[in-house]
Amino acid sequence: MPKAVRRTFVLVTTPVALAALLGAAAPASTGSPGAGDPYFPLAGNGGYHVGHYDLTLRYDTGSGRLDGKAVLTARATERLTRFDLDFTGLTVTGLTVGKAKAGFRRSGQELVVTPQRALRKGERFTVTVTYQGKPAPVTDPDGSLDGWIATDDGAFVAGEPQGAMTWFPANNHPTDKSSYDFTITVPQGRTAVANGVLFSRRTVHGRTTFRWHQSEPMAAYLATATVGKFKVEQFTTGNGIRVYNAVDAREAAASAPVLKKLPSVLEWESKLFGPYPFRAAGSIVDHAHNVGYALETQSRPVYDRAPDLSTLVHENAHQWFGDSVSLTSWKDIWLNEGFATYTEWLYAEQHGGDSAQKTFDALYAKPASDGLWEFPPGNPGSGANIFGTPVYARGAMTLHALRTAVGDRAFFLILRAWASGHRYGHGTTAQFEHLAQRVSGKDLDGLFRTWLDTPGKPNRP
Ligand SMILES: [Zn+2]
Repeated sequence: MPKAVRRTFVLVTTPVALAALLGAAAPASTGSPGAGDPYFPLAGNGGYHVGHYDLTLRYDTGSGRLDGKAVLTARATERLTRFDLDFTGLTVTGLTVGKAKAGFRRSGQELVVTPQRALRKGERFTVTVTYQGKPAPVTDPDGSLDGWIATDDGAFVAGEPQGAMTWFPANNHPTDKSSYDFTITVPQGRTAVANGVLFSRRTVHGRTTFRWHQSEPMAAYLATATVGKFKVEQFTTGNGIRVYNAVDAREAAASAPVLKKLPSVLEWESKLFGPYPFRAAGSIVDHAHNVGYALETQSRPVYDRAPDLSTLVHENAHQWFGDSVSLTSWKDIWLNEGFATYTEWLYAEQHGGDSAQKTFDALYAKPASDGLWEFPPGNPGSGANIFGTPVYARGAMTLHALRTAVGDRAFFLILRAWASGHRYGHGTTAQFEHLAQRVSGKDLDGLFRTWLDTPGKPNRP
């Protein structure tokens, strides 16, 4: 095709080339309303990365009203004339990008922001959103509630997988991890517990303000700001980890013997997986039985009731698997739940309980019609199944099958290499398989395909 003809062709057909030829700015980009996760297509957003969230919250436990200000420090990963945040329910009262007022509109869970001028690719910028209202949780595809869940004395706040957006505007997908500051004001007598280290606690005119700092990168779903009437216990472990336990008095008697074991559980897990990833640790034991679950909120899991020991072991195993090493896609959820469940098995095995083999055998004895075999853990099929039994139990069975195939030495090397190699970052199922093959020197493809991807009850390994 002759050059001149081609140029004419380009000129009349593509605005990109036209703009370039005319010396105009690069084409407009509007980011994207999701991070590309097939299970939650609108979760997260494209076009920018949030480095830090500075959240200032005031919660009135009587009326259930929340007043918030979120300052997000972000970097554009492409030129942006517009971008989205995830935010649902509460009323936005103001929005600026840098110091300038920005346009915004709501569309479902998307808060669509139009800055006065386009952001350059690579540009650092701040977004400040002020908001208010009575937060309400979201109902997930499996019917469970997540987000800001009001309780009789405050709120139980847990965000997996979607609920962060019920209390702050976020890039709400685990691919985007950030540091956090929380400044939370509640009526005197209530305690507000977030992630990381408590910086200060100050009471003025009948209100107490708690300032928390989470320095290591955290996915939005792992943030918490749980509020209640809590008994607080603080101490530093021999390894320098700052422990903060907050316990609802109604759960105190039942939880005391379990929480007492937290330092030894963390030490045992550190021996297996490598150093504990965070500066802070602890527990938030609420009295919120309607919630029905505990969550591995980063550095300090939140429990809806007094946990039993295996739940404590499970949620703290997630500090390595799920919190420090994050998912890139919800489909890979077995990397979180299979690992945390297998840690329960290992804990029992090494503390006078059943061997992991015995636990495996008991599960394997379940008939092919059992719910355990309903779908393969590496392919749950939809967001409705990510907390299904196969993800946890068959996910753990997958790790046991791996351990049986490669031997204890290689197996524990693999777990440690996974935790250290992806520390504060992300991992995928394919990367884990690759690592297991590299460390063990074995071809494990058949094993992983059988246990992770093949529907129905696998043949005996
Ligand atoms: Zn879990």
